[in-house]
Amino acid sequence: MRVLIAGAGIGGLYLAHGLHRAGVDVEVFERAASPDAFAAGYRIHIDRDGDRALRSCLPPRQVADYEAACGRPPRTFAFVDERLRELLAVEIAPAGADSGHRSINRYRLREILLSGLDDRVRFGRELAGFEQGDDVTARFADGSATAGTILVGAEGTHSPTRAQLLPHAGRVDTGVDGITGRVVPHGPPAELLPSAFADGPGLVLAPGGRNLFVATHEDYLVWGLSARRESLPAGGIGDLVPDRLHSLARELTARWHPRLRHLVDAASEVSGFTIKTSVPVPPWPAGRVTVLGDAIHSMPPSRGIGANTALRDAELLCRNLTSGMAPVAAIAAYEQEMRAYGFAAVKASVQAQRQGLVANPLAFSASKAALRVLNAVPVLRDRVFR
Ligand SMILES: Cc1cc2nc3c(=O)[nH]c(=O)nc-3n(C[C@H](O)[C@H](O)[C@H](O)COP(=O)(O)OP(=O)(O)OC[C@H]3O[C@@H](n4cnc5c(N)ncnc54)[C@H](O)[C@@H]3O)c2cc1C
Repeated sequence: MRVLIAGAGIGGLYLAHGLHRAGVDVEVFERAASPDAFAAGYRIHIDRDGDRALRSCLPPRQVADYEAACGRPPRTFAFVDERLRELLAVEIAPAGADSGHRSINRYRLREILLSGLDDRVRFGRELAGFEQGDDVTARFADGSATAGTILVGAEGTHSPTRAQLLPHAGRVDTGVDGITGRVVPHGPPAELLPSAFADGPGLVLAPGGRNLFVATHEDYLVWGLSARRESLPAGGIGDLVPDRLHSLARELTARWHPRLRHLVDAASEVSGFTIKTSVPVPPWPAGRVTVLGDAIHSMPPSRGIGANTALRDAELLCRNLTSGMAPVAAIAAYEQEMRAYGFAAVKASVQAQRQGLVANPLAFSASKAALRVLNAVPVLRDRVFR
């Protein structure tokens, strides 16, 4: 069996490692000209399942590199209002215990996933389309082609494999814009960070359909401001340059607690993005071409599970392809399972985004009251957030 993977992202590289370790002939084709072309980017949250999947698939040296690159595990997740009044504090793990959750810079994670696959990854090869028959032929933008037993599209949100395989599979605008900022403090991060976020990330819920995600990573802090587009001046972030985005973030938080305003103000790198999501696709007949990760189920970042779901796909597909099943049967079993949990993750992320951006003043007060009730009844809180 020869497996072609388009896209050297988190999902594609994980699958390549798993197959390579199992002795399968695998080749990854990546559009970027070299690993240096990958943006340094933000840290991502790896949940317990993602952490387990990475440890079980990677060779020992890469596991050691992964462990060394992970930040301090978060212990709590806090919800506060824009005046920094506590709404709910969720304990992810008791003091002194390891929560099993990790955070790692996505660039570093890719670097780790790339090591050990050096001769299996081809850079500067942008997949353009494919042809299916007794085998599959992948065609590239540079006019070249290669044949394999199966093709896996792991090219992220703008996947050409998805566009050809499932032309009806759409992505829709959620009507929410995001502005992110990175803050490198001059002193210890704790001086800049509101104490609610000292032991883990959290969310500031603000009136008018806005919220601010805050997380600290050893030597820097990040924030992500989300807002319903209809509540923004000029109808959204459009193609504002970083300076204008920063001014807009300051404007949107002008009435918030001074510590939060200070945090927003102190950002040195600011960028913006519109938040889109996949819509569930009804089952399709399995063949020699499949898709994984954001290529099929991209979702808002509200729950921090997109990459974890891509890892789950890659782990499952790898297991099926190396189980002795015929390739198309292995893909059929993978797709059936993936559609269920993948689109459930999309739904949960869209719902979490909606719940965190309540514009109606009465509904906003009610949701804050509900969080306070949960906070006051630990048994209920633990059940809801388990
Ligand atoms: C602000 C933000 C925060 C996030 N935080 C988290 C988090 O905390 N936890 C989490 O689990 N998820 C998070 N996510 C989601 C996560 O980043 C994605 O779900 C994850 O990267 C998807 O992995 P992937 O392998 O499917 O695709 P990607 O990582 O996007 O990789 C796709 C690869 O394919 C390549 N490619 C594209 N087109 C082609 C082509 N035609 N031919 C060949 N190669 C191609 C690209 O260059 C890229 O290398 C976040 C997302 C955002 C936007």
